[in-house]
Amino acid sequence: MATPTKDQVLTALKQVKGPDLSDDIVALGLVAPDDIAVSDGKVILAVRIPAERARELEPMRQAVEKVVAAVPGVSKVTVALTAERRASAAPPPSGAPGAASPPSGAPGPSGGLDAGVKGVSAIIAVASGKGGVGKSTTAVNLALGLKAGGLNVGLLDADIYGPSMPRLLKISGRPEPISGRILKPMENYGLKVMSMGFLVDEETPMIWRGPMVISALTQMLNEVLWGPLDVLVVDMPPGTGDAQLTMAQQVPLAGAVIVSTPQDLALIDARKGLAMFQRTEVPVLGIVENMSYFLCPHCGERSEIFGHGGAESEAARIGVPFLGGVPLDIAVRETSDAGTPVVVSAPESGVAKAYRGIADRVMDRLKQERQAAGRKAPKIVMET
Ligand code: ADP
Repeated sequence: MATPTKDQVLTALKQVKGPDLSDDIVALGLVAPDDIAVSDGKVILAVRIPAERARELEPMRQAVEKVVAAVPGVSKVTVALTAERRASAAPPPSGAPGAASPPSGAPGPSGGLDAGVKGVSAIIAVASGKGGVGKSTTAVNLALGLKAGGLNVGLLDADIYGPSMPRLLKISGRPEPISGRILKPMENYGLKVMSMGFLVDEETPMIWRGPMVISALTQMLNEVLWGPLDVLVVDMPPGTGDAQLTMAQQVPLAGAVIVSTPQDLALIDARKGLAMFQRTEVPVLGIVENMSYFLCPHCGERSEIFGHGGAESEAARIGVPFLGGVPLDIAVRETSDAGTPVVVSAPESGVAKAYRGIADRVMDRLKQERQAAGRKAPKIVMET
């Protein structure tokens, strides 16, 4: 079947009326050619709306999805509602003098969306079935472990309800606009980092509704100069609800890492996490068992206080690779609180080695999955 064109998509969009039904969304300037990306049969587009009308306009978003899905040759449609902050609907030319303004509040309206993320070879999600299992801590130290292996690595904090990366990586300030709406990622310890925590003041109460969450995420993916990166690690919001599922569908993920604790005995929550990625056809790279055993800071003795091995045997039982265990170690919490992650502040410690081992296995799994998918393996060389 012929590949759909942007013009065909625009023509289809003219069937959808704008919020007050006065005219169609194209005539109203709510969607412009720049807001549409077409790649093979996949279409991604953004519709500009006032932030406060996001919930009420969800039926309009669905109508857009429906008319685009009906265009011949379209296999997948992703429609994001994006916040409108300008008086005029016409977007300023990207890179035009004066077009860039420092970000305030949520990121600006979306410009040209990308079906993948420019300059990023692989995006991997770090997820958990529930909160408090050490997902963010794992994401940070995994990213730094990959970096220690000689890769160019970025970290996207997709946990917009409780962004933790500014604190975990000791980064403050706001990202600078580079041109138009494109932001420069923040940086520390050699990682490129983006988090809603850099864009919204911690004291500002934010109410996030479904569609706005998705546009915030697509903006942090597509309006940040990430590349060139070998790997972008995404710290997902905890849990396996609809919001998480939609996010997993929005990000072009190469694979997912599930973090679980041994207390989570039958790993019911972890299994929900697995099921979520299986539904989205994202390869599960494996399970990390966090707080696997207790490493006594005084005597160095290892105690299996939670019955170590639960995740490993469960992973084997359900046929998912086990990526490694991380001890419950006070140094992990202390370094996290101090914004000096253990992989960089104590690289010779056992726990840092555990994270680096997990990073190596994640890369091996990624290569396996790519080969299995019949795609060319990424040209990534781990320095050991
Ligand atoms: P999540 O992202 O799953 O909510 P966090 O990464 O924020 O979890 O971790 C929750 C708490 O547990 C934090 O205080 C963190 O420092 C601590 N923590 C995580 N992993 C370990 C570990 N292996 N040893 C000690 N403390 C840990």
